[in-house]
Amino acid sequence: ASDDDEQASTLQKRQKERDQNVVAKHYDDRPEVGRSARKESPIYGLKSFNNWIKSVLMQKMAYPALTQSRSRRTLRANLTLAGRVLDIGCGKGGDLQKWRSARIKEYVGVDIAGVSVSQARERWRDWRGDKAERFDATFAQLDCYRHPLDAELPPKVFSEPFDVVTMQFCMHYAFETEAKVRMMLDNVTSYLRPGGRFIGTVPNSDILLNSLAEAQESDPNALSFGNEVYRIRFDQARGPLYGHRYMFFLEDAVEDVPEYVVYWEEFVSLASQYGLALLYKREFHEVYAEEAENPEFNALLKRMKVVDDDNNSAMDPAQWDAANVYLAFAFEKR
Ligand code: SAM
Repeated sequence: ASDDDEQASTLQKRQKERDQNVVAKHYDDRPEVGRSARKESPIYGLKSFNNWIKSVLMQKMAYPALTQSRSRRTLRANLTLAGRVLDIGCGKGGDLQKWRSARIKEYVGVDIAGVSVSQARERWRDWRGDKAERFDATFAQLDCYRHPLDAELPPKVFSEPFDVVTMQFCMHYAFETEAKVRMMLDNVTSYLRPGGRFIGTVPNSDILLNSLAEAQESDPNALSFGNEVYRIRFDQARGPLYGHRYMFFLEDAVEDVPEYVVYWEEFVSLASQYGLALLYKREFHEVYAEEAENPEFNALLKRMKVVDDDNNSAMDPAQWDAANVYLAFAFEKR
């Protein structure tokens, strides 16, 4: 029996390594298309909406932690850059411009996908324009769910704490094992100052499991659900708290990449062991319902082309449905 156990555990280990490589390779293989090509995407509306959600989350939940570190004088003048941001799973640097608008002083971006990290670095380097707006940045390739940040980042990065840690559309990849989630939480909290914020976006376990239960009402053997834009396919209907795997497909974005359910209540309780207190949790549809009328965020909706001047959505119903797979969250470090 012990031979069998050993063999099973070796097989499991190999499966996990394959999953990890699939994730890094998937993101590295996706070409960085320019802004104009992005507009051609069949899910342009959904992508813009996701970007709008991230901007709203940053402004509502991260800005307070950034401005706390700004002196009154610089706040009044709104000139000096301030605040340090750690972006775990930074990808190709899709949020760099948003952080520039936040007038941060320093940005650190890490991601498991090496090509993506290089593209993020290039994007930052290529900025011309007003030098005063260009914040310092450090980038590194790192599996942040298996290694501590200081394994790849230079010591100078840790000489001051971070005001904000951000993890956008990437935390769920850690939920393969509890050890990975703990490593991830170590990396999130070790250098986050008390009062600092941890913000992110992640698939909503309630929506995932309720949608699967609904699919099983018409077909008890069903393991998948979705529409013409996205599809989620579980290995098993009920799974362990860590390692409950499903394959995710999103048109023109993610092709059948393995992901893991983030059991939300369990996560909040684990996060509290790391000094993180939940401040904000909203489904994407709720963010829209609460914020779309706010004049500042309404103007942003239009600028980001999520809606046109008459407030008609750029998303069809299938994209709108797909959008609500995710939730936005913010924690504060106590
Ligand atoms: N945060 C970026 C954004 O919002 O545009 C990228 C999001 S992309 C959907 C998910 C990112 O998580 C990918 O760039 C992927 O390489 C990264 N990722 C997955 N597993 C990771 C790990 N173990 N360590 C660091 N990054 C990881």
